[in-house]
Amino acid sequence: MTLVLAILAVVWIIGAVMGTPKGPRLVMVAVVMGAVGVIQLALPAGHPLREATGGDIRLWLLLAGFAVLVLAYQQGLRWLRARARPAALMPDTPKPAFEDDELRRYARHMMLRDIGGQGQKRLKNGSVLVVGAGGLGAPVLQYLAAAGVGRIGVVDFDAVDLSNLQRQVIHTENQIGQPKVASAARAMGQINHHVAVEPHEQRLTAENAPALFQRYDLILDGSDNFETRFMVNDAAVAAGRPLISGAIAQWEGQVGLYHPAGGCACYRCVFPETPPPGMVPSCAEAGVAGPLPGVIGSIMALEAVKWFTGAGESLAGRMLVWDGLYTDARVMRLTRRADCPTCGEKG
Ligand SMILES: [Zn+2]
Repeated sequence: MTLVLAILAVVWIIGAVMGTPKGPRLVMVAVVMGAVGVIQLALPAGHPLREATGGDIRLWLLLAGFAVLVLAYQQGLRWLRARARPAALMPDTPKPAFEDDELRRYARHMMLRDIGGQGQKRLKNGSVLVVGAGGLGAPVLQYLAAAGVGRIGVVDFDAVDLSNLQRQVIHTENQIGQPKVASAARAMGQINHHVAVEPHEQRLTAENAPALFQRYDLILDGSDNFETRFMVNDAAVAAGRPLISGAIAQWEGQVGLYHPAGGCACYRCVFPETPPPGMVPSCAEAGVAGPLPGVIGSIMALEAVKWFTGAGESLAGRMLVWDGLYTDARVMRLTRRADCPTCGEKG
């Protein structure tokens, strides 16, 4: 019996030294024990080999039974420990990307091949800054909040006026006189409480814009005048952020994606000079069809979703011009200008 135990010890130790896992080593032990069992059963009593390997099968069966009991006890303990460990402490269980209600909320996005769960996650991890909570800002803010962009900033210093309600559908009659950013933030919170809304009630200037822009991944400009659009473009280029810029007048609107850091034109490559004041009439002076900002703002929001998810072909380096009066659309290719005062090779 001592001989067999010595053989088993040698088999086990050689296996351990060679780095063999426990499973194959247990198989080796079982093979040796099986051979011993055959010797005990097949050879007559008193045979030298049978005497050398224990002499009695019952002794080995007792020993094997004991070993099986010990192994079973160990396995049982391991199983109980795994069950008793609280789920929160399990280091190999990552926090799910979405809560159950988010999975239901974004289901129509996730079933789109070009968005899917990965794209929805990018939207959730993304941030945008929307300049202006007016006609274009309204659908942009509503759709981006609904689409689940994780963090949405909105900058405006105006208050809601009765004359806004003809097209600025994010505001309501009982918000008249309230700051537009507060009214918009309230509406977005009611659409999607998972979105972090950051209202900035301030006048955007060339001084404060670049630092504010750097806090966001993407800038959407829905401002209503050329001066602001040029300043937003310059600040976006300075901050290295892509800019989706929209503009509307009367029955016509335009939208483009400007991103010199990504190799395409900036707004000033296309419109090098600010028109003199009074040359381009504002909505207040020339009028605007109520649903027009809905069309252009929705395209801006769609381009933002595409930019985050990488779906399709973006408007980078292109400008869409939409004529609402005759229902006609054109897309123009935009080229970057080497002598652009904002993104060109100055001195
Ligand atoms: Zn440029």
